[in-house]
Amino acid sequence: MPELPEVETIARDLRRLIVGARVSGVSSNWPRTLRSHDPETFSAVLVGRQIESVGRRGKQLLIALGSSHRDPAPAVLTVHLKMTGQLFVVPAGTLGDRHVHLVLALDDGRELQFRDMRKFGRIGLYRRDPATGLPVAGEAAGVLASGDEPLSDGFTARRLAELLSRRWGRIKTLLMNQDFLAGVGNIYADEALWRSRIHPLRDAHMLRPADARRLHAALQSVLAEAVERRGSSVDDYTAPEGDGSMQEHLDVYQRAGQPCHRCGRQVRRIVVGGRSTHYCGWCQRLPAGQKPGVPAEPAPPVRRGPRWTEFSGEAALGRTREEEAAVADRQRRLAATRKSAATRRAAARSSGAHVAAPSAVPSAAPSAAPSGASSEGIA
Ligand SMILES: [Zn+2]
Repeated sequence: MPELPEVETIARDLRRLIVGARVSGVSSNWPRTLRSHDPETFSAVLVGRQIESVGRRGKQLLIALGSSHRDPAPAVLTVHLKMTGQLFVVPAGTLGDRHVHLVLALDDGRELQFRDMRKFGRIGLYRRDPATGLPVAGEAAGVLASGDEPLSDGFTARRLAELLSRRWGRIKTLLMNQDFLAGVGNIYADEALWRSRIHPLRDAHMLRPADARRLHAALQSVLAEAVERRGSSVDDYTAPEGDGSMQEHLDVYQRAGQPCHRCGRQVRRIVVGGRSTHYCGWCQRLPAGQKPGVPAEPAPPVRRGPRWTEFSGEAALGRTREEEAAVADRQRRLAATRKSAATRRAAARSSGAHVAAPSAVPSAAPSAAPSGASSEGIA
């Protein structure tokens, strides 16, 4: 799932591409993509509004819109890409494949396509509070993350230490909680914990001030570096102007069985709260009192969070045969996705729909074959 750096990259690309354009039409073919309205109302409320800015809160995009002839109130679109959501800016009429579920026609002859293979992505349309840029109070309750933005000025080491001291539970699970920190998910939680040498199963409130300081520095450095590199193009993530390269610079995420970049020992993989977790057992130690199976002293309160399990044998280093099959399947899907994205970007470039320099588009393009799009497209 795209995390803070990936969504920030998409927001920056879109800002260059669509700010100033006006929405002239809407078509959708999967009503559940729309969080706030049925398709007809969504279209009626949206059409005629000009795109004023593109921002981000946690893992969601915020597309600010002006008034329309039927409604003087400014509005905002919230876009949560979830697992497989992608956004492309293409010339009007570019054939979408069967995974394109929403198209916003723009008044300048282009369109914004929302492609979502797994259909978990969600888009909401709300009245906008001009002061905050966010949906007006009460309109989008529970839609946006309430946790701190880890790259904001207010998120200091002292602030993190304070937040941690109030929380019980595994640090890995806590870092991914969007009401604790906004924008951190599986990739950057694993990477930040490795950088700060903190075991993913450590109890949050047991971390010392020095641990919190290292974790704070690690979170900010890994997220800033990933923004710089346009995010990690693992799974289905791609941005309107091309993939990221952070995946080539990750230290533990999806590197189980490979040598730790710090000590050379094998990176291990466990499952915490249902999520794959990657760490170095040598660099990231669990305190003796907290070793699995050894009750902590004094006994902590009953934990209501997700349970964790540890694989033994081959799975702890590398993958089981079932997982290998799942990974191969995902890679096949990914290849199709990349091809489709490259085809779209090539179409956009050849028509001049993108204002950015072609050099911003990385190496995915050479494999661009004739469009693999099926006739089921809705364009
Ligand atoms: Zn190590």
